Amino acid sequence: MFLIALVFSTIYGITIGVPAILPAENEVMTHNFPFVTRLEWGARTPIQKSSLPIPVPYVVIHHSYTPPACYESAQCENAMRCMQDLHMDCRGWWDIGYNFAVGSEGVAYEGRGWDIQGAHSLYFNSISIGICLIGDWTNSLPPTEQIKAAKSLIAQGVELGFIRPDYKLIGHRQIRKTECPGATLYQNLKTWDHYASFPASPKDLLHVEELPENVKSLLRKNTTLLEK
Ligand SMILES: [Zn+2]
Repeated sequence: MFLIALVFSTIYGITIGVPAILPAENEVMTHNFPFVTRLEWGARTPIQKSSLPIPVPYVVIHHSYTPPACYESAQCENAMRCMQDLHMDCRGWWDIGYNFAVGSEGVAYEGRGWDIQGAHSLYFNSISIGICLIGDWTNSLPPTEQIKAAKSLIAQGVELGFIRPDYKLIGHRQIRKTECPGATLYQNLKTWDHYASFPASPKDLLHVEELPENVKSLLRKNTTLLEK
């Protein structure tokens, strides 16, 4: 399907004489849900990129906490720019940390995309796609449209071959001492397809089969890292 979209986009691009369409944008043509590309939300150019080995075995769900939930496109696009600025300017990362984000209006936003390693889950970035549900979901549940878009995005990732068909879905708090993705969303996450209760906490990281050996060896040398 991806290939068909790619060919179609290329032909389409030539026919109407627009500049070559980037792969990330071709993916959009196969989505059955609203999707906003980096170009559309005005993303800055990443400082650097590191490719993500695909297909990934994990999907990690986050909430943004701040910025707060956004309910229409201008507000959500602004949230994307704010998160990118925060991640690049204050945290010194190469780009917005998440692979994707989803707004409460049910639109998915391209972050680093499917095949670039994110900066969303320490130690887990090389084996997962990180999706942020924009908002603070500690005391309330994201709207149905937002959850639906996140699920559609995951299904699309599987269909395009970026996520393993037997992937495991976890909340950020399962691998890091954090409230993320918010208590209420986390309870709901347990009902999603492919939810995995393991790892249950950072202490389980050493027993995660898919975690690269170099990461495990770093954690073994400094076990206090497992408390963070
Ligand atoms: Zn998180």
